[in-house]
Amino acid sequence: MRPRWWVPLRDARAYAFVCVCVCVCMYTHARVHVPRLIRSSLNAAANTRVGQRTSARTTTTTTTTTTTTTMAQPHDEVLAAQEAHLNGLADSEERTIFDKIVSKDIPATIIYEDSLALAFRDINPQAKTHFLVIPKIRAGLTRLSKATEEHKMLLGHLMYTAQLVAKQEKLDAGFRVVVNDGVEGCQSVYHLHLHVLGGEQLTWPPGCPPQ
Ligand code: 5GP
Repeated sequence: MRPRWWVPLRDARAYAFVCVCVCVCMYTHARVHVPRLIRSSLNAAANTRVGQRTSARTTTTTTTTTTTTTMAQPHDEVLAAQEAHLNGLADSEERTIFDKIVSKDIPATIIYEDSLALAFRDINPQAKTHFLVIPKIRAGLTRLSKATEEHKMLLGHLMYTAQLVAKQEKLDAGFRVVVNDGVEGCQSVYHLHLHVLGGEQLTWPPGCPPQ
């Protein structure tokens, strides 16, 4: 026979147990499912935008259609940039994939190297010729908007290198230099880099917001 005070105590313990279970469930949901839901809604939004863009392009010229099917799909980069942003990689990554290319820990097709800069082919080309020019030492230049007075010489050197390698790549008819900055600029690797694109007639404008 339990004493009379036992009944409310037993109820309180059951109540506490239920509360703990609810808290654990809520915590798990917040940690695991919410980021996944955000990511999938971002993916859906990006895919919709790309769908609109692709259909707009298909009606313009057949040449453009061929280009979009043979080259990597542009939304990959939008997603990569959003993922990098969501995962908090911006400015926080100790060693980026580009640092590993500089140190030759991972392979890349390097087409130019000097004491300050490295140029290598983009793994996911968006034009017949597409290479990246990066500073060998990131030195705080995770993105262009982080540039300070001290970076002026290095930035000039990267621009100079871009045209030097473009000549080496025989892009005499012209080329385009692009720097993506931050999530809305579609930056996915937070180590400053110049994209150099060419080798064929490029189109304009480069970024196409939904109509
Ligand atoms: P962002 O989107 O940051 O402006 O450009 C990053 C670029 O780096 C993308 O065009 C992407 O294809 C390229 N990239 C990412 N990882 C690698 C890699 O491991 N090797 C090479 N060669 N390029 C990469």
